Amino acid sequence: MDESKKMTSLIMIFGATGDLAKRKLFPSLYRLFDKGRLSDQFAVVGVARRPLSNEEFQNSVKDSVVSSLGKDEKIDEFASHFYYHSHDVTNSSSYQTLKSLANDLDEHYGLQGNRMFYLAMAPEFFGTIALHLKSDGLTEVKGYKRLVIEKPFGHDLPSAKKLNEQIRTAFSEEEIYRIDHYLGKEMVRNIEVIRFANAIFEPLWNNRYIANIQITSSETLGVEERGRYYENSGALRDMVQNHMLQMVALLAMEPPISLKTEDVRSEKVRVFRSIRNIQGEEVNNYFVRGQYGEGVVENEKLPAYRDEPMVDKESNTETFVAAKIMIDNFRWAGVPFYIRTGKRMATKTTKIVVQFKDIPMNLYYQRELNPNLLVVHIQPEEGITLHLNAKKAGVHLDAYEEKLSFANTGVNAMNTPEGYEKLLYDCMRGDATNFTHWDEVAYSWNFVDKISAAWTQSKADYPNYESGSMGPKAADELLKKDGFSWWHVDELDVIDLCK
Ligand code: NAP
Repeated sequence: MDESKKMTSLIMIFGATGDLAKRKLFPSLYRLFDKGRLSDQFAVVGVARRPLSNEEFQNSVKDSVVSSLGKDEKIDEFASHFYYHSHDVTNSSSYQTLKSLANDLDEHYGLQGNRMFYLAMAPEFFGTIALHLKSDGLTEVKGYKRLVIEKPFGHDLPSAKKLNEQIRTAFSEEEIYRIDHYLGKEMVRNIEVIRFANAIFEPLWNNRYIANIQITSSETLGVEERGRYYENSGALRDMVQNHMLQMVALLAMEPPISLKTEDVRSEKVRVFRSIRNIQGEEVNNYFVRGQYGEGVVENEKLPAYRDEPMVDKESNTETFVAAKIMIDNFRWAGVPFYIRTGKRMATKTTKIVVQFKDIPMNLYYQRELNPNLLVVHIQPEEGITLHLNAKKAGVHLDAYEEKLSFANTGVNAMNTPEGYEKLLYDCMRGDATNFTHWDEVAYSWNFVDKISAAWTQSKADYPNYESGSMGPKAADELLKKDGFSWWHVDELDVIDLCK
C-alpha cells in the first residue's frame, strides 16, 4: 500500500469538543497535513452539543495543536478546513442539517464522496449515531464510508454484541475501524518486524527455547478525574481486554502468509481461540487483582483509590491486574505469558520481556548465568535490548551480562509518528490491519467476562498495594510458584549517536 499518498476525505468527528479530540485527534491531523499526507482536499466537521461558531471551533483546534506540538506555520491554513455543527446526537431532527453540510463540503473541496465518521464520544451513543448516519442518508456516498470507534467496545460480550449488531446495520465489517491505540504505537508495530525479519529470533520463538514472556504496562498516575468511568470499568476491562491481549496476540501469532489485513488478523484470531479459558475458582490460580491504597511518592502523600473523586468508599474495582495466560497450541504449550497492568505504580512503563530458557550447562560455574532476555521497550522509551553473557576484558574467563541496545531516538524520534496519527492515516488509506476485527473483540470479551464473573462473586481484600509500589505481593507469588520472577529491567541505556 502506498505510504506517501495524499488523502482526500471528509472527517466527521463526533465529540469534537472533548478531551480525545483536543489532545490526540487535532494534533495528529495537523501532523498529517504538515507532512503532506492530507491533500488540500479535506474537511473536518466537528460535532458536539455546545454552541460554537466555526471561528470559535477553529480557534480551539489551533490552541490544541499549538499547545501539543508548539507549531504554527501552517496552522491558519489547516484550521480553515474545520467546520462546526452543534448537534445533540440523540436528537433525530438535526442529522439532516449535518447531511447538507457534509454534501456542501464534499462539493466545495472535491472530496470524492469519501467519509470517515470518528466516534470520540461515550460508547452509549455509538449505536444511535450509526443508525442515524444510515437512516438520514449520511452514508449514501459515492466514495468510501468508514466508521472509527473508540474503546471501550462494549462492557462485556453481550453488550459488545449488541453494539456490533447496531453498527453493522449501517457499516460492513470492512468499514468498521475499532481503535486500539496500542496498535498505533511504534514499538508494538515493531513486534512483527522483530519476529519475522530476523533469522535469529523466529527459530527460537517457541516453547523449546522461550521460558516465559512478561508484559508490563504500568502507570504512576491514579484514576484522576475519571473515577466515574473507572468504577464501571476497572483495569481488567480498561487494559486487559484490549491492549494487553492484543500484545499477547502479536507476540504469539504464527507468521501470516502475507501482511494483508485479513492474513494478519486471522492469525491473531487463532491466538485468541487458543487462549486457555479460566473460570470459577481456578481464576485465583491465574489472576491477581489489586487496588491501590495510600502511599508517599517524592514526599507527596497520595490518596487511596477509595478516596479519589467519584469513587465508592467501599469500591471493589480493581486498579491492578496480573495474570498468567496460557496459549494451548503446539508452539506455546507450557509457556506462561505473564501480564500486569495497574495505576499508581512505581514507574510509568510499557515493556515486553522475553526470557529464553537456560542453556543446558553452565561452564562458567564461578558465576550464575543470567538468562538471555529480549526486551522491547514500548513507552516512554522506544527500543530493544538484548541481554547476553560475555567475557569481560582481562585474564578471567567469567561470563558477565552485557546488553545490546537499539533506541528510537535522535532523528528517528523526531519523525516517530504518534499512534493516532498512524491510525488516522491507515483508516484513510483503507488499511485495517492495526484495528481490531470483531472476532478478536468477541474472543477477548469471552475470556475476560469469565474472570469478572468470578471476581464479582467475592469482595476483594482491598486496598492491597501501596501507591508507588509495583502492585500486590500476590503478583510476585504468581510467578514465584512457577520458578520465575518479574524482571526489573532498566530503562534503555544507549549512546545516542545522532546527538
Ligand atoms: P469527553 O472529554 O467527555 O468528550 C465527550 C464529547 O462528547 C464532548 O465533545 C461532548 O461535547 C460530546 N457529547 C456528549 N454528549 C453528547 C451528545 N448527546 N451529543 C453530541 N455530543 C455530545 O470524552 P473523551 O475523553 O474525549 O472520550 C471520548 C471517547 O474516547 C470515549 O469513548 C472514551 O472512552 C474514548 N477514549 C478517550 C481517551 C482519551 O484520552 N480521552 C483515550 C482512549 C479512549 P458537548 O458536551 O459539547 O456535547
